[in-house]
Amino acid sequence: MRCEKCQADVANEDTFQYGGQTICEDCYIEAMSRPQPCDPGAVSAARAARELQGHKGIEGLTPIQKKIYNFLKEKGKVPREELAKYMQLTPEELQGQFAVLRHCELARGFKEGNKIYFTLM
Ligand SMILES: [Zn+2]
Repeated sequence: MRCEKCQADVANEDTFQYGGQTICEDCYIEAMSRPQPCDPGAVSAARAARELQGHKGIEGLTPIQKKIYNFLKEKGKVPREELAKYMQLTPEELQGQFAVLRHCELARGFKEGNKIYFTLM
């Protein structure tokens, strides 16, 4: 299995689906923890839109996103699998929800050892 981003050879179980690409864990973390290179305005656009609507902090988030936020707030940092289990979402669904929190600069993903964690900004 070859990562479509960095072309690294990776074991099948270490690959992730992201934006229609099959990528390695490192590229996945990279994608999860910072705005997409193809979309440099995403963060400021999301923030500007929320400010326009008068949303500060977690106001304006969906109940699911608020639940993720509150869980991270309570736990500090949460392994990806645990958050998905707690939220009863598939990794793909969680990724979609989490992307909003990330774009609003409320939360981020990071890698520690060989595990992916989520935490608040
Ligand atoms: Zn890669």
